[in-house]
Amino acid sequence: MPTALKAFRAAFLHFVDDPFYTSESESIRYIPDGLMVLADGKVKALGSYENLHNEYSGIPITAYPEMLILPGFIDTHTHYPQLEMSAAYGEQLLEWLHQYTFPTEGKFQDKAYAQQIASLFLDELLRNGTTTALVFATVYPQSVDAFFEEASRRNLRMIAGKVMMDRNAPDFLLDTATDGYQESKQLLQKWHNQGRLSYAVTPRFAITSTDAQLQLAGKLLQEFPDVYLHTHLSENAKEVELVAELFPTSKGYLDVYDQAGLVGDKSVFAHGVQLREAEFQRLSAAKSAIAFCPTSNLFLGSGLFNLAQAKSAEHPVKLGLGTDIGAGTSFSLLQTVNEAYKVAQLRGQKLSAFQALFLATLGGARALSLDDKIGNFDVGKEADFIVLDLRATPLLAFRNKVPTPTSLAELADPIFATLLLGDDRTIHATYILGELQWQS
Ligand SMILES: [Zn+2]
Repeated sequence: MPTALKAFRAAFLHFVDDPFYTSESESIRYIPDGLMVLADGKVKALGSYENLHNEYSGIPITAYPEMLILPGFIDTHTHYPQLEMSAAYGEQLLEWLHQYTFPTEGKFQDKAYAQQIASLFLDELLRNGTTTALVFATVYPQSVDAFFEEASRRNLRMIAGKVMMDRNAPDFLLDTATDGYQESKQLLQKWHNQGRLSYAVTPRFAITSTDAQLQLAGKLLQEFPDVYLHTHLSENAKEVELVAELFPTSKGYLDVYDQAGLVGDKSVFAHGVQLREAEFQRLSAAKSAIAFCPTSNLFLGSGLFNLAQAKSAEHPVKLGLGTDIGAGTSFSLLQTVNEAYKVAQLRGQKLSAFQALFLATLGGARALSLDDKIGNFDVGKEADFIVLDLRATPLLAFRNKVPTPTSLAELADPIFATLLLGDDRTIHATYILGELQWQS
């Protein structure tokens, strides 16, 4: 059967390398009037309209004049069950968990409820231009099934896992070390590499897991080296103190995970706000990733992430952006960038428009070891992409008089303005494997 081709005409922007370490001309590809040709939901060709349109004449073209097509955004840390308790007032991490999070997660014992929230959550991701995410479910296996079923229905590339927690939480939310191991194993055998889905072994954090449970999480990673490890790390100062009390023989927070065999090249640690320099170096050496979650870190008063340390030339750490719903206050990666920029400013550091967009796309894909499949428009990549309207609001229309200029040098300003002033209204359309999944 001949392959059905389709094409999109617009301005295109994507990354082929990391603009933190290479020049913009080396790392960025910008095509002011481009044509992207897709075959079977994957990129077949991308170039200027002028150069490509003769070769592909006669195939259907969807045109988005004066709009910018980007790879879909990648959210490297979030919690679908916390959607309904976003913006819960007044507490920092440990109190916030007990007062708001744990009672809410208790509701996910009910599979139908989990399905309803998973559906809402995924629709909200698509409205915000996020096409892939690394997601916490709850301790209940049925909450993982519900999430993967809804993701599968939408054909999304998603990573998720069952929370493992066997202490320091209400009884109704606790598993045991062995049950957590068995249930996680059954779930990963059921879902990992099913279509576009992947499994993450997901101990909540060191405070809610015994050493026995962390060791069994490490055993799962040994038995299934292809799965992810997803947890929280060094978010809040009181949390770091409590971890030191609970694990008196450890050399630090990261060392607790290291001793259980949880620090590897498919490990993603959310936050890392309180990390010491030696811990950044260890993460760099292990090729582990950090999810930088600025709206959450500010909302919970956790602190200011050290972006320059994570992206240092000597000890680079794989880095992505996380919304961390429901401690995070926005589903939008644009709003997440907005706050990331301000966190950097408060530390006397800079985050350029293109560096920020890299973190939200190819940087996130690298953090999740998915850069062979998504993150840019290299030939053969899966065509998950978004159409950005840089004039979506009256203010943006006034600010971005020329939304898609002819040169990269002129693009930095409208992109920066859109990152800072934009939100879900800026996402005109979201495509999954070349199919329209959401439109404003
Ligand atoms: Zn989190």
